[in-house]
Amino acid sequence: CLSSGPVTSPADIRSRIPDVEIPDVSFAEFILGRCDEFKDNIAVSDYLTGRKYTYQQIKDFARRVASALHKRGYKKGDVITTSTLNLPEFPILVLAAASLGVIVSPANHMYTAAELSRMLEHNGACAIFTIPQLLPLVKEAISDPNVSGRIKETFTFGHEEEGALFFHTLMEDDGKSFPENVDIDPKKDVLLMPYSSGTTGLPKGVMLSHHNIVANIMQLRDLLRVSPDEKTIALLPFFHIYGLTAVQFGSLYNGAQLVTIPRFEPEMFLKAMHEEKITILHAVPPIVLFLAKHPMVANFDLSNVSYMVSGAAPLSESLTMECQNRLGFPIFQGYGLTETSPVINIDCHPGYPGTIGLLVPNTKAKLVDVDTGEPVKVGELGEYCMDGPQKMLGYLNNQQATDEMIDKDGWLHTGDLGYMREDGMVVIEDRLKELIKYKGYQVPPAELEGLLLTHPAVSDASVIGIPEEGVGELPRAYVVLKPDVTVTPEEISKFVEERVTPSKRLRGGVEFLAEIPKTPSGKILRRVLKAKALQA
Ligand code: AMP
Repeated sequence: CLSSGPVTSPADIRSRIPDVEIPDVSFAEFILGRCDEFKDNIAVSDYLTGRKYTYQQIKDFARRVASALHKRGYKKGDVITTSTLNLPEFPILVLAAASLGVIVSPANHMYTAAELSRMLEHNGACAIFTIPQLLPLVKEAISDPNVSGRIKETFTFGHEEEGALFFHTLMEDDGKSFPENVDIDPKKDVLLMPYSSGTTGLPKGVMLSHHNIVANIMQLRDLLRVSPDEKTIALLPFFHIYGLTAVQFGSLYNGAQLVTIPRFEPEMFLKAMHEEKITILHAVPPIVLFLAKHPMVANFDLSNVSYMVSGAAPLSESLTMECQNRLGFPIFQGYGLTETSPVINIDCHPGYPGTIGLLVPNTKAKLVDVDTGEPVKVGELGEYCMDGPQKMLGYLNNQQATDEMIDKDGWLHTGDLGYMREDGMVVIEDRLKELIKYKGYQVPPAELEGLLLTHPAVSDASVIGIPEEGVGELPRAYVVLKPDVTVTPEEISKFVEERVTPSKRLRGGVEFLAEIPKTPSGKILRRVLKAKALQA
């Protein structure tokens, strides 16, 4: 029934799946209600330590942590940040925060102290939850004068550490102060605030409501058909929207077992897949490439996997087929954005490899000409736009960026360029927005350009992505030097490397130019630089 449906055109793309009912409830009610149903089933376990929690325990601990945080003065509208590897206690914290109306704004645990303090300064967090290994970096970040007064408390997961409170003491609370009557408006109140640079500029706080997240889990339910017998591996980081919602809570809402592993290490990952008999694998294209090609994969039994989903970056038809043929399970491509909670499309049952597949229910989309805003024809390239209940509320304290992304008629402009095939399937071919993606991680050029301008020898800079098989794009800098300075491209690269998360390093190289091509209004002509890079 999913291979046919209403006729669609690039002007009016509709889902082939009937709309689903999206309950008008807070996120805590939505998930904790399911915990009563799945009671003694294992909800989440940690591959390395074996720590595990049943659904009943998740609910019980979430209520205890909420009670403890409530006693400590945390209240609706407060923001907390996480900087941690994937842990089985993560969903407990999110559910506790959700019960209080507290907003969770997760940070990339690979951030440098400066990157973390910038985020904390921007999101206004009053507490941070981390792990002992990251505590020195977190302390450095919160000692920044713009942040230090505001962070009231630092908590660590794992074990007790001097200078921080221990998360487990919150889990030992008597639960008596759990606030039953927090007034949450699911459509207006923010639940999660991950960071994304969106179409342009620096990373921004993406305000996702309780309803946004409830909606996206319901929109995926009949497509991914996660059942309580499944075991999902939580390999993708919980700080990125894909791991945070689709993987983590897509599993927990449906009664499956989530198995956390702290990071992608090829052998540990394959051992976990094999020993835990994982049935659902969410990944990104570099992991698909690894599974398709690496000889080590043949030493492990992945025969329990019923399907793999790949998202966060484009997955080619040829790589999809190569990996499917090698491993024997289907690969579904998911497409979406942090700003859309995240899923807009998913290619599953029966599958149209290379395309972004079916529009999720309760969602509409269109492809429009970038200059005129008018719908394009079948086969023509246009910007993909969407509207649906998973669309963000907006960017924190940034109405201008919100208005640039969501137009007055409510369409969210993804900044991605695609075309519709004759069979109605959409292929995403390019990116209109300046964002670079390295292994699925966001690399906002504006951030690197700002950093390059702080180098004493640099007078102007522009950063673009150079396509690279298997990883997406490599960030390359074009730099204009001040007169009479001597500096090498390697020195510039090193300067950046010392100040950014590993994914943002200038792996595509540094090239010196006499000037950066710009429009008369001063906008960088990135297309000109891209064409130059491709010619070289
Ligand atoms: P993020 O907010 O980090 O999830 O990044 C969103 C962006 O990642 C999208 O706007 C696309 O440019 C890209 N993206 C995500 N999934 C896909 C996909 N399946 N195919 C092509 N691009 C994708």
